[in-house]
Amino acid sequence: MIILLPPFRDNAELNDYLELPEMPNISWDGRIAFLDRDGVINVGSDNYINSPDEVILLPDAGISVGKLRRDGYRVCIVTNQSPVGRGLWGHNNLHSIHKRVSKLLLEEDKDAILDLILYSPYVPWEGSWARKPNPGMLEAGRQIINNANQKVSDQQNVVLYGDKWVNKPDESESIMVGDRDVDQLAADSYGVKFFRCDPNIGLSEVIDSILGANNE
Ligand SMILES: [Mg+2]
Repeated sequence: MIILLPPFRDNAELNDYLELPEMPNISWDGRIAFLDRDGVINVGSDNYINSPDEVILLPDAGISVGKLRRDGYRVCIVTNQSPVGRGLWGHNNLHSIHKRVSKLLLEEDKDAILDLILYSPYVPWEGSWARKPNPGMLEAGRQIINNANQKVSDQQNVVLYGDKWVNKPDESESIMVGDRDVDQLAADSYGVKFFRCDPNIGLSEVIDSILGANNE
């Protein structure tokens, strides 16, 4: 059963038109790299990342995001952020954290642009379709990026979920990276190849496998 509770988008309404950033000297071929955040891009914590000051990138995270985009992927962050739903802090604080993540990535690699950041603010017991292990954030990410690519700017994104989304595109070339079972379950449920990384190493641990897998 789907309990909808839709995903949230960093610094925008979910259904706002997305202005896609430029790709680095390569045209987008439809592949998306869905990335968990904590333990993939930045160092995670059992007590959450609660402020921009707590953001520490994992080694070569920026270079690895840059490599994904230079290979032709769009990059979509999909992160569970229950501190919002727990009332610890709000959406604006999360936006400042994401600004810091984005700034540090770009300082490391000028191509390390995050095309879209989606998050689930819900607590686990709400059962949201948008909270991993459910696939709602991946479903929304694909539709928002596709709509942006088709420059459907005169109308808002209509995002469909689960069985209601009938013309789902082929995702056999897209990938997801995460450090936990919930990431793998979301990837499996959505139907995208999953790469698990060690949370102390992050994306750089699997970047060669990802890029090699698509160069076979
Ligand atoms: Mg994680």
